[in-house]
Amino acid sequence: MAIRNIVTVGDPVLTKKCRAVETIDQRILDLLDDMADTLYESGGVGLAAPQVGILRRVVVIDIDEGLIELINPEIIHAEGEQTDAEGCLSNPGKYGMVTRPNKVTIRALNRNGETFELTGEGLLARAFCHELDHLDGKMFMSLVSEWIETE
Ligand code: ZN
Repeated sequence: MAIRNIVTVGDPVLTKKCRAVETIDQRILDLLDDMADTLYESGGVGLAAPQVGILRRVVVIDIDEGLIELINPEIIHAEGEQTDAEGCLSNPGKYGMVTRPNKVTIRALNRNGETFELTGEGLLARAFCHELDHLDGKMFMSLVSEWIETE
């Protein structure tokens, strides 16, 4: 397990579409472990593989309710709407208001290669949307309706 370097805005890796994971081999398991370490070290709520320079569809999330590992995640249902402050470990110190669905169901593989579905509301729904956007090279800044001034 190791802390990986988080890339920031301006690095082209953040604008690229990630490839699906075809085989959950030791490299992917190590990536998941390192991403969790990196997430906890950073104090963020979510981290996508391109943020550590890896163009694979892998995400880790923890909204203080335990670690969620997602391989090849996709949104299969979204409903409602919420508007709240959002930031990104790859754009440190910048926060803006972003409207997202309030309830989101994802389907993904776990580290054992088993398909599961998970529904999140509020912050978890926001984290699903934010992190899955990273896998398609999209960042939250394009969705900000109003930037929040920080000292
Ligand atoms: Zn982000």
